[in-house]
Amino acid sequence: MEKLISVNSIEEIIPEYRHTPVGMLLEYHNLNRPFDTYGKAQLLIGMCMDNRKHLHMPDNFAYIIRSGGANLRYSEFKVSYAIGVGKVQHIALIGHNNCGMVNLISRKNDFIEGLVSSAGWEKERAEEHFFHFAPMFEIGSETDFILSEAKRLRLRYPRIKIAPLFYLIEDNRLYFIKES
Ligand SMILES: [Zn+2]
Repeated sequence: MEKLISVNSIEEIIPEYRHTPVGMLLEYHNLNRPFDTYGKAQLLIGMCMDNRKHLHMPDNFAYIIRSGGANLRYSEFKVSYAIGVGKVQHIALIGHNNCGMVNLISRKNDFIEGLVSSAGWEKERAEEHFFHFAPMFEIGSETDFILSEAKRLRLRYPRIKIAPLFYLIEDNRLYFIKES
């Protein structure tokens, strides 16, 4: 994980994000900053649906969109809502290690058999469902995907500040992903 920048003090927050809502997220989550009171959201967080992650931050601080791999390509209306109506100007995109959306194809049989046995689906329908959607959600590498997603969103929303972050399952801390 040589691409990750750890944050153990305010000085280690990348200067362009320090004292912004992204920096505040890192202060709350990593540095145990006492919670402030918020009347409205300051930040939009895009993160994976994975159950192993919990963010330490105050009530009302952020909108959160959770989806496989923190992929926001199919949640764009919600992103636009948070910006247009919620008036947030910062997005934290949070990937994590050990993501189930990497090498999704290796979980094909579990996916199909699980839908058949747990949900009562026909096998063919479950297969079709998998092959239709898996290419949309498969990601090659967790860090590369977040970087490319940040790039895509910056083009789409040019005045919004977008930070690529990473959640390490082993220590439950947030990191910046190094951008070249
Ligand atoms: Zn994941």
